[in-house]
Amino acid sequence: MKQFNGISYFMVIRTKSKIHIVWYNSATMNIKMLVRPNIRSLSAYEAKEIPCRVKLDANESPYGFKIDDAVLKQIKTNRYPDPEGKKIKQIISKNLGIKPANILLGNGSDELIYYLITTFGGPVLYPTPTFSMYGIIAKALKEKCIAIKLDNEFDIDIEAVLKAIKKDKPRLIFLSSPNNPTGNCFSSEKILKIIGMSKGIVIVDEAYQPFSSERGFLPLLKDYRNLVIMRTLSKIGMAGLRTGFLIADAEITEEVNKVRLPFNVNSLSQAIASKVLKDKGKLNSFIRSIVSERERLFEEMEKIKVIKLYPSEANFILFRTGNADKVYQELLRKGVLVRNMKGVVNGCLRVTVGTKKENEVFLKALKEVVL
Ligand code: PMP
Repeated sequence: MKQFNGISYFMVIRTKSKIHIVWYNSATMNIKMLVRPNIRSLSAYEAKEIPCRVKLDANESPYGFKIDDAVLKQIKTNRYPDPEGKKIKQIISKNLGIKPANILLGNGSDELIYYLITTFGGPVLYPTPTFSMYGIIAKALKEKCIAIKLDNEFDIDIEAVLKAIKKDKPRLIFLSSPNNPTGNCFSSEKILKIIGMSKGIVIVDEAYQPFSSERGFLPLLKDYRNLVIMRTLSKIGMAGLRTGFLIADAEITEEVNKVRLPFNVNSLSQAIASKVLKDKGKLNSFIRSIVSERERLFEEMEKIKVIKLYPSEANFILFRTGNADKVYQELLRKGVLVRNMKGVVNGCLRVTVGTKKENEVFLKALKEVVL
C-alpha cells in the first residue's frame, strides 16, 4: 500500500486479467475490521482506577516496602536489565529450596500465562468462576477454551473435568488454588487426580498460597513432570513491581523461555524485589498480619446476618448480598472500593483484606448500607 497526501492511501490489487487501484482514506478507515475476529470479540481485563478513600478491590497487600537510596543507586538506567534475573532467581531458589533452572520470571504472572499458552497451545481447560486472564489470553491466542463450572461448594467438579480430559485432551489446565474470586483451596486429592490423569501440563496458580493454611503443591514437583507452579510477588506487597515466576521441570522452563521477551523484568523491579525477598522476617510478618486480619474481618462480617460469606484461604473474602449493585455503589459513595463480581459470581462482592483501620472503615460502611 502506498501513502499519498498524508491521509489517503491507494492499494494495487492484481487479478488475473486486470489491475485495480483502490483508494483509502485513513479518516474513514474501519480499524475494527482490520482486527483479528477473535480479538475483536474480546473484552479487555477490567482494571479501572476509581477514586476512593479505602481501596479494597484488587487483592493488593495493604503493606508496601520502603526503597532505600542504596538500592536505587545500583540501577544503571542506560543499560538493559539482567536478561535472566539471576539475583531474584537465586533468592527464590534459596527461599523455596529449588534450583534456579526450575524458575522462570515474568512481568507479573499474567505474562507467564501468556507464555505458557503461546508455548503449549490449547485446548485450555479451567474451572469457572476463576481468574479471568486464563480465558482472555487463550482467546487472544485463538485457542479453544474449556470452562468447567465449579460445584456448589466452589470445588472442582472432578467427573466433568476428567470427562473433558478424556474427550478434549487439553494441553493446559489452569487451577487457581486458592481460587480467585471464591477464596477457597480446591481439594488436593482432586488436583492430584487431574495431574495424574492429564496428558497435558497442569498449572497450579498459587498467587494466594502465602495466605493459605495448606502447603501447596511445591513438594510434589519432583513427582510430576507435567506440574507447573505459578507464584507472584503482587499479593505480598510488590504489585507495582510486576514480578511473577513459575516453577517447573527444567525442560518446561527451557521451552517456555523460548517465547519470553528479552529483558521482560526491568532493572528497578529486579533490584527492589531482590532486596525485599531477602527480608523474610518482614515479608512473613506482613503475611501473618493479613491472615489474622482476614480471620477477624470474617468473624465480624459473620455477625451481619443478611450477608452470606464464603470461607477464604486468600487475602480477600467473597460475600453474597441482596442488591449487590446497590451495596457496591453505596459503599463507594462512602469512600470504600470493593470488587463487584457481577457477571462472574452474580450477587456477590469481593473485599480485599486491608489494614485493621481500613477494615474497620469497610465494616462500618457495610453495616450502614445493608442493615
Ligand atoms: N493469578 C491469579 C489467581 C490472580 O488473581 C492474579 C491477579 N489478580 C494473577 C495470577 C496475576 O498476578 P500478577 O500478574 O500481578 O502477578
